[in-house]
Amino acid sequence: MAKLLLRGMVLPMSGAEDFYPQGEVAVDGDRIVSVGAKGSAPRGFEPDRLLDRSNDVIMPGLINTHTHAAMTLLRGYADDLPLMPWLEDKVWPFEAKLSDEDIYWGTMLALTEMIRSGTTTMSDMYASMDRVAEAVLSAGTRAALARGMIGSAANGLQALRENIELYRACHRAGEGRLRVMFGPHAPYTCPGDFLQRVKSEAESLGAGIHIHVAETEAEIETIRQEHGRTPVQWLNDLGLFDGPVLAAHCVHLTPADMEILAEKQVCVAHNPESNMKLNSGTAPVPELTRRGVVVSLGTDGASSNNNLDLFGEMRSAALQQKLRVDSSALPAYEVLEMATVKGARALGFEEVGMLAPGFKADLITVDFDQPHFYPRFSIPAHLVYAAHAGDVRDVMVNGRMIMEERRLLSLDEKKICAEAEKRAKGIARELL
Ligand SMILES: [Zn+2]
Repeated sequence: MAKLLLRGMVLPMSGAEDFYPQGEVAVDGDRIVSVGAKGSAPRGFEPDRLLDRSNDVIMPGLINTHTHAAMTLLRGYADDLPLMPWLEDKVWPFEAKLSDEDIYWGTMLALTEMIRSGTTTMSDMYASMDRVAEAVLSAGTRAALARGMIGSAANGLQALRENIELYRACHRAGEGRLRVMFGPHAPYTCPGDFLQRVKSEAESLGAGIHIHVAETEAEIETIRQEHGRTPVQWLNDLGLFDGPVLAAHCVHLTPADMEILAEKQVCVAHNPESNMKLNSGTAPVPELTRRGVVVSLGTDGASSNNNLDLFGEMRSAALQQKLRVDSSALPAYEVLEMATVKGARALGFEEVGMLAPGFKADLITVDFDQPHFYPRFSIPAHLVYAAHAGDVRDVMVNGRMIMEERRLLSLDEKKICAEAEKRAKGIARELL
């Protein structure tokens, strides 16, 4: 594989002080060889190609730790409704009509949007995950995949068998670009014995669990009535937190819940825009991070967001906490960490999320030669408060360029948009 030298403003995300205004990143094959000031590449490193991006910021690819990728097909199909009518009358009937092929094209649409907005890794929970894996492998990105399982549904055990099969077929596939987790949907859709079964299967394979937790007040009330505890306490009592767990949302937590999450090293995927759009509430992010909980960032599905743009999500995350707590809450660099290093930790990808020697070469360049990035007082502040998806110029995953000068190299964007349009409109017509 080729040797590449990138020059530009390097923000490696290895520490708040680390920044090289005239820096360079050397890549050999799928790995980063060196990161530092211009001229820091090792002696004898002879690049096949020099990419001069002196007006760009070179940084790690962004990591979306909670989404349902194929829900791009529902983007704009139903909005501005209360939660239950939105789910029962719109989302669930539409989803019931999705074929494997629909899910494949919906995921391809999501991946196209993600690459264009600088996301190199996603954590997806949905159905037909073998087709989702196929989409990720062809897009050239990285993903942690979980089969979403409704334990109380008739196909609950079948979904669990599919998750096990997915693990055997796809975990560490694609040169390590895929990981597989287990995806029990939520405490209010999965009975206790089902969750324990999932836990023991995940444990025997050494896999992590990805689950929605404490998303709405209604969920807290349901679990309290059924089990006399909070969802976090109930899951902990079931032993679910004994292995690695990624808990999405965690909006409604007691101080005791937060202590449990910290003690059990449960990671939290924070989804501020979905939480706002569905009127779920505001997650206590600073309170969690103060206790040492790893909080990463997610968009949730495109039907409750309505895009998969992590630049927008970073800005929303920061602003939401400033509104809730005070203007010093969740500073820019911390938000960037949520979307990079902490995302990698939450998903168990140990060699991405940071630009460092020996790490996998997952990186993006952001075009800073634009009016909204001047004057250049603070690069982290600009990335969080001023940048948007369209500022991303290049995207590399595992040492391979998948977008260059905003041209997609791994996907046929026109065909993907046309397929998604045709399939989504077809389903909507059937439901009229
Ligand atoms: Zn979700």
